[in-house]
Amino acid sequence: AKVQDKPILKGLNLEINPGEVHAIMGPNGAGKSTLAKIIAGHPDYEVTEGRIDLEINLKMKNILDFPPEERAREGVFLAFQYPVEVPGVPNTEFLRASFNAICRHQGSEEMDPLEFADFLEVKRKELNIDESFLDRPLNVDLSGGEKKRNEILQMAVLNPRLALLDEIDSGLDVDSLKVVAQGVNQLKTKEHSLLMVTHYHRILEHIKPDFVHILIDGKIVKTGDHTLALSIEESGYETIQ
Ligand code: ADP
Ligand code: MG
Repeated sequence: AKVQDKPILKGLNLEINPGEVHAIMGPNGAGKSTLAKIIAGHPDYEVTEGRIDLEINLKMKNILDFPPEERAREGVFLAFQYPVEVPGVPNTEFLRASFNAICRHQGSEEMDPLEFADFLEVKRKELNIDESFLDRPLNVDLSGGEKKRNEILQMAVLNPRLALLDEIDSGLDVDSLKVVAQGVNQLKTKEHSLLMVTHYHRILEHIKPDFVHILIDGKIVKTGDHTLALSIEESGYETIQ
């Protein structure tokens, strides 16, 4: 995959089965966010070769042919490294519109505002998120850590089949980290797959990934279990090749 004619991902194979949590680690500029963005369908990034197959109704489909909103309706979710502020769009309305768009597409019942408010209240409490988040415009005036929590609330509401979390742990205090870990661990079931990009082992103490991949210069150079993350933290990326 490339961005503005600069090759970023250079031959990368990854298979995430239902029920699995994969972590991607790697130095700055390795292409971690690029990977998450091309799976979600970010228009700035061009995939020059290969395919991204998602199982839809028991069939593998190459979602590179799908626009981003279609991927989202099929259950792909991206929690941004830098969540965007959207003035004028109340958080609750945004969540309900997203939720109902997915329901419509997948053939399940939509919720009216009252039903959705009850549903959202349960999720909000489970994740110990402040009530005031819901009425504010999406992400506006939230701190960095609060934005990350809000991404986790979105994930909990939308119940994605494939969740991509890009540095969801960066800038979090201990309490927020626990909220994030709790949200992720609730999705650790057979129906969900998770890919999390992270720099730190810290979050992986709360969320045990099944696999840890090291991405350097657009390629996965090493794959291991959660202990690989620990050894990276101790000795850095230089020792891995
Ligand atoms: P990581 O998340 O691993 O730190 P990224 O995937 O964000 O790395 O970026 C990989 C490389 O691509 C970096 O050199 C970055 O500067 C470049 N890059 C990413 N997005 C863009 C963009 N929109 N325009 C230009 N260069 C970009
Ligand atoms: Mg990044």
